[in-house]
Amino acid sequence: MNLPTLPLFPDSGSQRPLLIAGPCSAETEEQLLTTAHALAQEGIRLFRAGLWKPRTKPGCFEGVGAAGLPWLARVKRETGMRTATEVATAEHARAAREAGVDLLWIGARTTANPFAVQEIADALAGCDLPILVKNPLSPDLDLWIGALERLSQAGIRRLGAIHRGFSALDHSLYRNPPQWSLPIELHRRLPQLPLLCDPSHIGGRRDRIAALCQQAMDLGFDGLIVEAHCRPDEAWSDREQQVTPEELRHILSRLVIRRTDDASDGLTALRRRIDECDDELLEVLARRMQVAREIGRYKRAHTMPVLQARRYEELLARRTAQAERAGMSAAFMQAVLQAIHEESVRQQMELSDE
Ligand code: PEP
Ligand code: MN
Repeated sequence: MNLPTLPLFPDSGSQRPLLIAGPCSAETEEQLLTTAHALAQEGIRLFRAGLWKPRTKPGCFEGVGAAGLPWLARVKRETGMRTATEVATAEHARAAREAGVDLLWIGARTTANPFAVQEIADALAGCDLPILVKNPLSPDLDLWIGALERLSQAGIRRLGAIHRGFSALDHSLYRNPPQWSLPIELHRRLPQLPLLCDPSHIGGRRDRIAALCQQAMDLGFDGLIVEAHCRPDEAWSDREQQVTPEELRHILSRLVIRRTDDASDGLTALRRRIDECDDELLEVLARRMQVAREIGRYKRAHTMPVLQARRYEELLARRTAQAERAGMSAAFMQAVLQAIHEESVRQQMELSDE
């Protein structure tokens, strides 16, 4: 399969990474202009700001809507940057296009809704605007590709994808775990399609952004879309994951851009799979410790001892046999289980300090 694609902009070079930066949301004209001027100073050429914000729960800031369109036009006039915003309905798409927004993206919640994507595709049929499609919240590659196909069938040629991670119950390591194998498979199936990474929504915390940017570059992503705000701690949405324009400069200055046709690509991809396994291991371990603490509370409430030797012996025997069937040595599994058990007991003992 292939989607007929043109570069995102007629004058797009092949320079990696293609950078998009700007606040999660446009809040006020002052916030938008201050952030935009600072980003332009740092050399950013493409500015993002959400006007219509699809929020998980009602009552949160849902964006300034069409009122922010003239602000974006002003950003463009004053800084020369191109502008980008998220559209979730046909009406948003028409309004943004008429107001001269240069690039539109479809958010994760919208990608998952084929009716909404079709309406947007129909509203933008045949237009020359670049449209980026974020992955849906669930790790469903066909749904992601399906949204791109709807736009392609409407004659949209300047297409790209944004990887923003996938929703998960456990947010301890990432807000939206990256599951890199999905964007890698998207790239395998659609090698011409520009692929950007959104480290802000994957990481959910500003201190995770730099490493995620580097991982995306090592995996051959074409670009990055990063949330940046002039006063991140006062942001009206996604406060924890926005960086200042200066912090963004610092992150970008330390990025190592390796050639993507390097012979060690295969090894990088394999190492990434190892990292992904380790991420999963850590998440599972953290979840296990949480259950151990709950057990600890239960035992305490029922005046039971923390250590119950028989249960541990049973667990050890059962899991060691299982490990051997899966090709691991009994000694290795015993060492792993012992370490996990010691930490569980330690966590249960700590409860007495609560
Ligand atoms: C955003 O980019 O601010 C946004 C809402 O992202 P997502 O659709 O990835 O949640
Ligand atoms: Mn956001």
